Amino acid sequence: MMRDALLEILAEKGLLISPEALDYIESKSDGVDAVRSALMDVSPGFLGMDKVRSLFERNLAEIAEKREVEPEDMVQIPKIKAEKAGIKVIKDITGESRSTAKVESFVSTFTSRYRKIRRMFRGNMRLKNIRNISSIPKNSRDEVSFVGMVRDFRETKKGYMATLEDPGGEISVFLNKEVLREPLILDEVVGVRGTVSSRGKDRIVFARDIVWPDIPMHEVNFADEPVSAAFISDIHVGSNTFLKDSWEKFIEWLKRPGDSAKRIKYLVIGGDVVDGVGIYPNQEKDLDISDIYSQYETLAGMLEEIPDRISVIVSPGNHDFVRPAEPQPAFDDEIKRLFSDKVRFIGSPACIELSGVKVLVYHGTSITDFISALPDVSYEDPTQALIRMLKSRILAPVYGGSTPLAPEKEDYMVIDDIPDIFITGHVHSYVLSRYRGIIVINASTWQSQTEYQKMNNFKPSPGVVTVVELDTGKPFAKHFY
Ligand code: FE
Ligand code: ZN
Repeated sequence: MMRDALLEILAEKGLLISPEALDYIESKSDGVDAVRSALMDVSPGFLGMDKVRSLFERNLAEIAEKREVEPEDMVQIPKIKAEKAGIKVIKDITGESRSTAKVESFVSTFTSRYRKIRRMFRGNMRLKNIRNISSIPKNSRDEVSFVGMVRDFRETKKGYMATLEDPGGEISVFLNKEVLREPLILDEVVGVRGTVSSRGKDRIVFARDIVWPDIPMHEVNFADEPVSAAFISDIHVGSNTFLKDSWEKFIEWLKRPGDSAKRIKYLVIGGDVVDGVGIYPNQEKDLDISDIYSQYETLAGMLEEIPDRISVIVSPGNHDFVRPAEPQPAFDDEIKRLFSDKVRFIGSPACIELSGVKVLVYHGTSITDFISALPDVSYEDPTQALIRMLKSRILAPVYGGSTPLAPEKEDYMVIDDIPDIFITGHVHSYVLSRYRGIIVINASTWQSQTEYQKMNNFKPSPGVVTVVELDTGKPFAKHFY
């Protein structure tokens, strides 16, 4: 079995392994599927030789059927001590925006994106001697490696053609369907290894491998105290489809002592906290509260009902009263002052730490762009969109699609810090998944099916709260609808 494929599977599962154990698996197993099924129920961490032997010597079919492998000799990835308890903001556009809406500033946004991601490819085993596109020769039987931003991508009879660019040049790339298993997305940044030949004065790279920056092996952070965080999104206060009863049940649950709710210390809200005003044509007829300030006042009152032990962290969405272009800063003072001290405001996206656990909060407006680009992504199930964001390390790659982007000197949509928890909202569906050790959440909604959704045949999944135990990394979902 190919070592590359094997390393890929181990990375996917968040497994660290000794070179000896790696050799062993390579010699024992006879294919990707066999390895996948043997490792199916192993949770992330270090995999020792004894464990590997027991996994691969047992009948693989039997393991697949049993579907439960006790991780007896699994060693937990070492915990990093939280510097201190509480909320820490790691990255947020709020107060840092230098957007001037000039074309040059988009040049610097994209240059920033390219530089940051190219840096992530340093030491990548699948790309050797990464060069600038301008220095790629006209013909080369020796493989060349480079990193480029996808400017153009289309399917052809035999595969795909892409145009990739870096700050100094551009090049055409042919990818057959063995090399590229999923479509490229415009403006994402990928690594390519391949041979070069020329047609006229144009160079064409025949790709042998395509690499995303992805989430490398990393240590997962845990809290030092037995606390949990709850995640919700898209409350849409002010809408006549706001689910008041479900919301009240949720608040009652938070107040009830002796339940798993008792250890909740943080409540993170992923945007669209109110329905807003003038967000789409004829919105008035869908509103119970038609004044934007009254919507936020009502929300402030609702959040006051939440027990005081819980800090509430509010991030904006496209329905909120803040610039729609991303990255979105936190609300202005005129909104903030309606709320009490227990509510903290952040931008979207923002990377924060809760008791030492890193959380990436992003409203998720760009999910629509992923739905257009990837066949396995839909409004009902955006899981693969969230995974692709992590894999390409960009929250909103497409410029000129359905996500409005603001030109900033630095590209805030790049995922610089690897989170432990990644939460989005926006599409009103529910996802709880894991990718390379990261808990991935699309945080439901508190709005029932709207007229517009009915027209588009979309059924939302409202009233779901995700709770993550920050000291153990265990997530669970609680339903209130
Ligand atoms: Fe929404
Ligand atoms: Zn939204």
